[in-house]
Amino acid sequence: MKIVYHALYNEVYASDPAASAGRIEAILRELEGEYEFVEPGLALEDDLRKVHTQFHIESIKRDHRLYEVACLAAGGAIKAAQIAMEGEASFGLIRPPGHHASPDHCWGFCFFNNIAIALAKLRGENLIEGSLILDFDLHFGDGTSNISAGSKIEYFQPQAQGREGFVEEIEKRFQEEKDYSILAVSAGFDRHIEDWGGQLTTDDYRTIGKLVKEAAEKSCKGRRFAVLEGGYNHDVLGRNVKAFLEGLD
Ligand SMILES: [Zn+2]
Repeated sequence: MKIVYHALYNEVYASDPAASAGRIEAILRELEGEYEFVEPGLALEDDLRKVHTQFHIESIKRDHRLYEVACLAAGGAIKAAQIAMEGEASFGLIRPPGHHASPDHCWGFCFFNNIAIALAKLRGENLIEGSLILDFDLHFGDGTSNISAGSKIEYFQPQAQGREGFVEEIEKRFQEEKDYSILAVSAGFDRHIEDWGGQLTTDDYRTIGKLVKEAAEKSCKGRRFAVLEGGYNHDVLGRNVKAFLEGLD
């Protein structure tokens, strides 16, 4: 298991909750010393263009500081996906998040669709065919859903309201026989009982991580990676990420 991380992710690049001070540090404190950390590079404009329109890219570029950290987040997802292709699980401890970024617009603290850019890059290099994205964030990843429509990316987000049903829905989905070359996870932790969603326990994240690992081993040579999306209670965020990674590793 490798953690993809860059010190620039700590920068407060906007005034939204995903960009708030101390958020990445809260996760870092739990993971440091436990895992190997690797630094990503910036995503290239060519990488962004695989998913986004030039109009959208230019609109983010107007804020230089934001553009740099957003390119670094997309670069972090790319790095995490590349590590997964080498057969090792990985987690992109990145921000800004990405699942509300569509080809030509974005909202919800997102700017570029990190996970979709990473998968598009692998696909562009003919390294993968289909891919499956599990999104367990509290919010629907409309951007990822828009991008994946009609492509070989399948976007899956459980809909169950209760905690047991939510986990069971993931289990059921993974039991279906489907062809995918890599399993990617939009890992948002805002469904936690002490976060906005009030739904999942810390142990549930460990269980979900384990389900992802088992599904990847069964279906796609163990290739699996996750990237950070939401999660806003700094008091519990670190331990939720850690629990998920313990399952995923
Ligand atoms: Zn969310």
